[in-house]
Amino acid sequence: MKNWQEIESKYYMHTFSRIPVCLVRGKGVRVWDDTGKEYLDLFGGLAVDSIGHSNPALTDAICEQAKTLIQVSNLYYTIPQLELAELLVTNSCLNKVFFANSGAEANEGAVKLARRYGALKLKGAYEVITAFESFHGRTLAMTAATGQKKFQKPYEPMPVGFINVAFNDIEAIKAATTEKTCAVMVEPVQGEGGVNVPAENYLKQVRQWCDQKGILLILDEVQTGMGRLGSLYGYQEFGVEPDVVTLAKGLGGGVPIGAILAKDSASVFVPGDHGSTFGGNPLVCAASLAVLKYILKNNLPANAREVGTYFMTGLRSLQKKHSCITDVRGRGLLIAMQFNSDMAGDVLKACMERGLLVNAVKPNALRFIPPLIIGKREIDEALAILDEAVAASSKM
Ligand SMILES: *Cc1c(COP(=O)(O)O)cnc(C)c1O
Repeated sequence: MKNWQEIESKYYMHTFSRIPVCLVRGKGVRVWDDTGKEYLDLFGGLAVDSIGHSNPALTDAICEQAKTLIQVSNLYYTIPQLELAELLVTNSCLNKVFFANSGAEANEGAVKLARRYGALKLKGAYEVITAFESFHGRTLAMTAATGQKKFQKPYEPMPVGFINVAFNDIEAIKAATTEKTCAVMVEPVQGEGGVNVPAENYLKQVRQWCDQKGILLILDEVQTGMGRLGSLYGYQEFGVEPDVVTLAKGLGGGVPIGAILAKDSASVFVPGDHGSTFGGNPLVCAASLAVLKYILKNNLPANAREVGTYFMTGLRSLQKKHSCITDVRGRGLLIAMQFNSDMAGDVLKACMERGLLVNAVKPNALRFIPPLIIGKREIDEALAILDEAVAASSKM
């Protein structure tokens, strides 16, 4: 067997602190490493594998489309792109779509759209208010949008036009709003920031403020979209209608695709304003269309809600048992468990040994973002392993 860790350190830029396991195969909610060891996967490729690994609904669509037409560019009409656009829009409060290749790129496009809106309707306003502890991606502009100093510091000076304010604090948004503001961009629930669920009325207050000021509300649903929170779109959980929504992660079930959705009132791009070579090509759109149909047909948002609630209840029982667990929070199948010390890495390791993949979203918190097809039996299995792993780690 090859030493893949050695090959990585020799040939790959050292940007990731990888977990020392090489995964080679997946099926449903399980994956296998190169030694044949099996894991229950509560990480789901970083909230991407929405319908599970190697789901025939997805793999058949990819194979069929690969044999038919992969890429011709956006200079031509292609059918999978338009079918996907129609299905996304008709299941949302939005009217128009643009396809990108990633979450960062979708957000970047959404900010460009907001700047065009500002130029045309708000006397040149261009600033976008975003939240601390947010995550909007790794491009230079999205690093500025992301309200976390650790991502910004190495690349200063930051692009201008982003104002980072406290999350879950309407007054902070009001105080930061000026005649230069064209939009507010937030995640309905912050994912990478540690699974931060805002107060029930926060997004409604933000919506009201944006209406009052005539500025756009952009919801970054790259992580919360496609059923994860218990509704197809996360905004549906909070009773608001955004002007712009971005999607990526779960949208393609594993193929790289992002999307900007906007209301007609905010769809101000004209030919030449924005573009993409690969964005929305037949291959990724056929895959994504199969994923979206599967999510709708099997009502995976409802499963995320039910199984997520079951999981949270189980995690709260663990909290009662282990005093090192200080908080359990989340919505649907976006859940975090917090510890009273930086022991998440140890618990993760103890879980790996016992055949469970989880994510240490913070040094003191684990995050669970499994495929949305997961059932209660697998959750029971995960809870039993977590129970043992927490006990083993808190004794260290
Ligand atoms: C992951 C994530 C992004 C970035 O997506 P990439 O595909 O990695 O560029 C943006 N916003 C949110 C909310 C995310 O979770």
